[in-house]
Amino acid sequence: MIIDSHLHLYPSEVARDPRGWAATRGELGWSTCVAPAERPSLQGWATVDELLRHMDDAGVDRAILQGWYWQHQATADEQNDWYHRWIQAHPDRLSAFAAVARPDAPALAATRRRLDAGFIGLGELCPQVHQTAFASPEWDALMSLAREYRVPVTLHVSDPVIAPPGPAGKMPPLDEYRALARRFPEVRFILAHWGGGLPFYELSTRVSRDLQNVLYDTAASALLYNKAIYRRVCDVIGPERILWGTDYPLLTHPRRARKPGFALDLDDVRTAGLSAHEETLILGGNAARVFGWA
Ligand SMILES: [Zn+2]
Repeated sequence: MIIDSHLHLYPSEVARDPRGWAATRGELGWSTCVAPAERPSLQGWATVDELLRHMDDAGVDRAILQGWYWQHQATADEQNDWYHRWIQAHPDRLSAFAAVARPDAPALAATRRRLDAGFIGLGELCPQVHQTAFASPEWDALMSLAREYRVPVTLHVSDPVIAPPGPAGKMPPLDEYRALARRFPEVRFILAHWGGGLPFYELSTRVSRDLQNVLYDTAASALLYNKAIYRRVCDVIGPERILWGTDYPLLTHPRRARKPGFALDLDDVRTAGLSAHEETLILGGNAARVFGWA
């Protein structure tokens, strides 16, 4: 089974005018990221039907829609409404994580309703956008909700060396993600984008011991690292804690394709020198285990 654990999706009215849509909602962080005014964007756009067609073309069985790290809970609620509609229309192909903008009491209540309605995780969260420190009562309450529902939490992590500083501001240092994982050992964390390089610190057994409840996803890998990273991270942490994700419909191979799709990202995994067993786990076996589809 091939499962993409990290993609985002928007209705066509958003794709038609992302800056205008974002301006009316005060979501400038998002529009600066996906549709900057001053430079061409790597963001691609797709409808649900296009997504399903691209999945069929590439043999992707299931896709997990990740929420965006919105500045306002009203926008998170709006996105969760889209996602709810789409997972209900295509329960055999699509699943969703709930977007959460700020972990205050109303957002927690809204998030609880999403989990009751079949959302399978929280995220993608980005602490610097939510302006909530990991060590805060609000964050603790959100993590406790994940623990109660036994759902994973996806965190956006930037590599502090490779990724340029985003509009969201300064990210927490990587060791704070380790401290978070330690404080909530029963919560499964998915650190996006190869955890910003954190897996390489697992060469230390002391670090690795603290991160056994952490998985890393490969979203946007080709924009950050060369494909040797699949083999290298496998060698450090083993294949069981890596989830394949693409960040579709992001244009992850902009020199080779100007339209969204899965083929080039899949090809990277399949030509990265992995064994058949490792490849099976990364491309979907691990996700099937984590989400109970095995
Ligand atoms: Zn991300």
